[in-house]
Amino acid sequence: MDVVLTGTGSPLPDADRAGPSTLVKAGDTHILVDAGRGVVMRMAGAGSLPPFLAAVLITHLHSDHVCALNDVITTHWVMSQGNATLPIYGPPGIARFVERQLHALEPDIGYRIEHHDVLTEGPKVAVAEVEPGDGFGVGDVTVTAAATEHAPVRPTLGFRLEHGGASAALVGDTIPCEGVDDLARDADVYVQSVIRRDLVEAIPHPMMQDILDYHSGVVDAARTAARVGARRLALTHMVPAPARDQYHDWVARAAEHYDGEIIIGDDLTTIAV
Ligand SMILES: [Zn+2]
Ligand SMILES: [Zn+2]
Repeated sequence: MDVVLTGTGSPLPDADRAGPSTLVKAGDTHILVDAGRGVVMRMAGAGSLPPFLAAVLITHLHSDHVCALNDVITTHWVMSQGNATLPIYGPPGIARFVERQLHALEPDIGYRIEHHDVLTEGPKVAVAEVEPGDGFGVGDVTVTAAATEHAPVRPTLGFRLEHGGASAALVGDTIPCEGVDDLARDADVYVQSVIRRDLVEAIPHPMMQDILDYHSGVVDAARTAARVGARRLALTHMVPAPARDQYHDWVARAAEHYDGEIIIGDDLTTIAV
């Protein structure tokens, strides 16, 4: 299983980091987790495209994680010539969100149906609202969902994907909690959105101070990885985004609490598990 960090950015615009998303390639089964800014471009860079997707999993409805879902839906629709259905799983609320996306796309859908004889109807999606504890299969990948903690964003989910004896925990934006522990326990890779508390605390901006209470710090993520025996810790969605010459410092802080491999994500960093 390849875990490709297709977007390692955050809501803050960054020329080198797309918005949050991760692509899991388990053989021919491609699963996208979240759909942040630029995701379709990064999927192309990862050797995938929306019509290859067996499913999209959404962790929560914060805009940075879903703002390019409309691009995934439209590109899936057009490239599959309207023949394929895109399964989308997410927390309660995802069905209404997708329905509204489709409403927003109505002009485009109308133009393309009018212009292309091969397109006779709009995008086909199969949306499933997932509750914590639910498990389901996507192709030969087993997916388990658990509740995460990112209040006031509710509900939020993390996912564990298992295939061929390998496991990946993609937990999204969350503070340490029981759900993350369950998903990441003994995982081959645990991918965690992180902030640097020490650096964010020094930014004199009230909206930056607000993010301190609903994200894991680097040290939090390292402690979680150690506590649950994750084999690798991959840091993504980093705030503030580190420059390359700062990676060492980020890793060193995590390494004080965790002995396993620590990966700082760049867009298209690929972790083979
Ligand atoms: Zn969020
Ligand atoms: Zn986020």
